[in-house]
Amino acid sequence: MTIGNELISGKTQDTNSSFIARQLHAQGWQTSVIMSVPDDEGAIQEGLNYIMSLSDAVVVTGGLGPTADDITTSAIARAFGLGIYSDQAALKHIRDRFEKFHLKWTANNEKQAQVPEGAETIKNSVGMAWGYSLKKDGKIIAVVPGVPSEVKRMVPDGIIPILRKEFRDAAGHVESRTIKLSGITEANVDQVLADVDFGSLGVNIGFYPNFPEIQIVLTAIAATEKDAKERIIVADERVSERLQQYIFAYDQDTLESIVAGLLTDKNLTLAVAESCTGGLVTDRLTDVPGSSAFLERGVIAYSNDCKADLLGVPEDVLKEFGAVSEKTAVSMAEGVRKLGKCNLGISTTGIAGPTGGTADKPVGTVFVALADETKTFCRHHTFRWDRWRNKTMMSQAALMMLKRYLTGELQHER
Ligand code: AMP
Ligand code: MG
Repeated sequence: MTIGNELISGKTQDTNSSFIARQLHAQGWQTSVIMSVPDDEGAIQEGLNYIMSLSDAVVVTGGLGPTADDITTSAIARAFGLGIYSDQAALKHIRDRFEKFHLKWTANNEKQAQVPEGAETIKNSVGMAWGYSLKKDGKIIAVVPGVPSEVKRMVPDGIIPILRKEFRDAAGHVESRTIKLSGITEANVDQVLADVDFGSLGVNIGFYPNFPEIQIVLTAIAATEKDAKERIIVADERVSERLQQYIFAYDQDTLESIVAGLLTDKNLTLAVAESCTGGLVTDRLTDVPGSSAFLERGVIAYSNDCKADLLGVPEDVLKEFGAVSEKTAVSMAEGVRKLGKCNLGISTTGIAGPTGGTADKPVGTVFVALADETKTFCRHHTFRWDRWRNKTMMSQAALMMLKRYLTGELQHER
């Protein structure tokens, strides 16, 4: 149950529910209902009653803030006839955060340390208010703040362990693995895997498009941990042997973290020349801590002048083939590699849209090139999205190319 007037008015989209449902699904639990209610005592209490009539546990987010409209705790306490107390450890955590971030203390912040009697607190390492869990008639009510970044930490770290302790026997051993793919559509993934009977392997499979990637989530529930793990391994083999070239990461890993890890391990340096992606490739690589180990520079060569002046793209190449062309992409990658005195240079040049397309170079066209000491590879893609998603896909294509080069796959492509 997510609580907040902003959710009901449509101002804020409820993203907590889907995140939490995925977390629960990965544990082998079934979500019976998802509900959003306003910051209103009656609505909160009726919502709780309804959900608890269907479920063994309820996860609640929102309404734990300092302001008068945040009433979740008092509504829950009153619903169960419980008093409210101020948790001293939670209060100290809030005061410490105020000090750490040099915030001005106001009295209403004390409210964020309040929990119903008999509740167990759930720590919040990324925000102010702690959460808590209650047990009522054998059912669990777990409550955390609504801020999505806090939910993303407190649910896996705080709530899932509580629910596992309570419902372990019912759940058995659950193993799950997320396989991340790029460069293929959800429908194609489904088709390629159509002949695999995951049910007979004792594994549940789900497809989740999570732009710009597709995720396959394998879940196995078995009597023993060993059994569950083995099932996942077998199912993963079935997926990998069919989709290897699209798979770039597992579970928590990201495309950029995989690329960064490979570059660092191989002791290679990289220079990036970006036109249509406007720095996005470099931005994503610098999201990885320690990226200075491999990233030498990123040049945003947006204009033809910059491509020629800085990267040495010949004027006649630009004139004859255009800025969006294989020859320009290749020359950009080679030029930035030389400029940065790096092992590798990568470049993007394309048309993000919505205007600027032509018949033979439609909106979404991109050339991505990768140069090493001896050879330059170039790939061409056409994406069909809006400007922002085209740029994202173009950066994805560049990072995928790097990944495939670093694993030796690109060199063996025909
Ligand atoms: P709250 O914990 O109720 O004070 O919520 C803090 C902020 O988190 C709200 O102002 C929203 O911007 C955001 N938020 C709350 N609930 C959700 C939700 N279910 N999904 C996405 N964002 C939320
Ligand atoms: Mg709120």
